[in-house]
Amino acid sequence: MTHPRQERTLIIIKPDGVQRSLVGEMIGRFERIGLKIVGMKMMLAAPDHVEAHYTLDPQWRVKTGEKSIKSYKDRGENHPHGDDPVVVTGIILDKLRDYMASGPVIPMVLEGAHAVSIVRKLVGSTEPLSSDVGTIRGDFVLDSYTMSNDDERAVRNLIHASGSVAEAEQEIRHWFTEEEVAGYRHIQEGIIYDDLDHILGK
Ligand code: ADP
Ligand code: MG
Repeated sequence: MTHPRQERTLIIIKPDGVQRSLVGEMIGRFERIGLKIVGMKMMLAAPDHVEAHYTLDPQWRVKTGEKSIKSYKDRGENHPHGDDPVVVTGIILDKLRDYMASGPVIPMVLEGAHAVSIVRKLVGSTEPLSSDVGTIRGDFVLDSYTMSNDDERAVRNLIHASGSVAEAEQEIRHWFTEEEVAGYRHIQEGIIYDDLDHILGK
C-alpha cells in the first residue's frame, strides 16, 4: 500500500493558459501548497490523443453531458442539443479536440498528500462562471457553459486536473512514459510530513 503523501495527479495547462502567460502563476500555486513536481513537459497534442484522454473513463461522456444539461435546467432552460447526455458530450468533444490541439500544452505530474483532491480544490469547478473565487478557474478566466455553447466552442478554463485517483493513474500513463516521471525526495517533505529524523540524519 502506498502512503497518502505518494498520491499523484495529472494536470495539463491548456493552450489558453499558455497564451495568457499564466504558466508561472499556476505552477506557483501548486508549489506553494507543498506539492512536488515529478513530471513536466511542453508539447503539441494530437486531436486523437486529446479524445483518447477524455474517453479513458467510460462514464465521462454521460457525466459531462449531464453536467451541461443540468446547467441549463438550473437556469430554467432546455439544453439546445436535447436531453441525451451522450449526444451533448459528442458535440463538446469535437470542440475540445480543437481547443486542446490549438497550441502547446504543458502536462505535469504532481505528487503529495491527497494530491488529486487538493489540486481539484485549487483548480476549481469546470465552469469559470460558477468556480469559487480563490481558485485558478475562479480567479483568472470568465467563461460559461451558455456562452461557449452559443459560440460553439469548448469552455475555456485554463487547466485540466484529474478527477479521481484511478483517473489520475490512467491519465499519467497516457501523457508520460515511466522514464519521464522522476521519483525523488524534496527537502521540504521533512517539515511538511514531520519527517525530521530523515533530515537530521538520525
Ligand atoms: P473538468 O475539466 O472540470 O474535469 P469535464 O471532465 O467535465 O471537466 O470536461 C472536460 C473539459 O471539457 C472541460 O474542462 C471543458 O473545457 C470542456 N467542457 C466540459 N463541459 C462543457 C460544456 N458543457 N460546454 C463546453 N465545454 C465543456
Ligand atoms: Mg474531467
